[in-house]
Amino acid sequence: MKIIKTVQAWRAEQVKFKNQSIGFVPTMGHLHAGHMSLIEKSLHNNNITVVSIFVNPTQFNNQEDLDHYPITLEQDIELLKAHKVDYLFCPDYSELYPDDYTYNVSEKKLSRILEGEHRPGHFDGVLTVVLKLLNIIEPDNIYMGEKDYQQAELIKQMTMAFFMRTNVEICTTARQKDGLALSSRNSHLTKQQLEQASVMHKLINSHLTLTEIKTELVASGFKVDYVEDYNNRRFAAAWLGKVRLIDNVKKSHSK
Ligand code: AMP
Repeated sequence: MKIIKTVQAWRAEQVKFKNQSIGFVPTMGHLHAGHMSLIEKSLHNNNITVVSIFVNPTQFNNQEDLDHYPITLEQDIELLKAHKVDYLFCPDYSELYPDDYTYNVSEKKLSRILEGEHRPGHFDGVLTVVLKLLNIIEPDNIYMGEKDYQQAELIKQMTMAFFMRTNVEICTTARQKDGLALSSRNSHLTKQQLEQASVMHKLINSHLTLTEIKTELVASGFKVDYVEDYNNRRFAAAWLGKVRLIDNVKKSHSK
């Protein structure tokens, strides 16, 4: 696996792959089986797979969250090598933001509800960094997780709005046996919180009403940001101590 830190270095590699398909998996690192399921899909369906690791400061609306975001680059590199990933792109801030974030992409509708309502500016940061990464890597396919459904949907819509060539593949959420969606932030949960955490998935997957789910979450020790339905899916975001968990599931007809 080659580790690339600059746009120029990637461009020098990219010319070698004229007629080969490039799959791309953007991440913020501290890789887990959820990330790896996206990476495996890219490896299977493309000639070349590029993974990026960049903890994007512009999408954090909470400085404490950014300061404590888990970084395990050496471990991640070993994992990517073991899976035979072709390239790791891990630029620093000044490489990706020569404009120091004076330019951004903003969406006015879907980005303002659910996560967007509770994390102002979050999706501007996400869309901007993904646009930059897509302009740099120029992949045929990008792999995004359904775990962050709103994010994946916004990126898909952005590629259509701007006539971008990349195809967006949205991949199912990898979960623990108890249903908890895998997430880099789960490593901040205590053992007891980890046991509590799976309740969220069980509740949004149940036949309870939105109000009943909120009540049950509070009773289980969560501080709830929202439980809402959108586009035939049920979404929830809630805090366990200092860790904010999000999840979503497709609604069954009887709910
Ligand atoms: P992150 O490193 O959290 O920014 O995530 C990078 C990509 O991995 C995003 O497209 C996420 O939606 C996806 N992802 C994160 N957790 C999971 C999961 N449990 N299952 C599937 N994809 C995931």
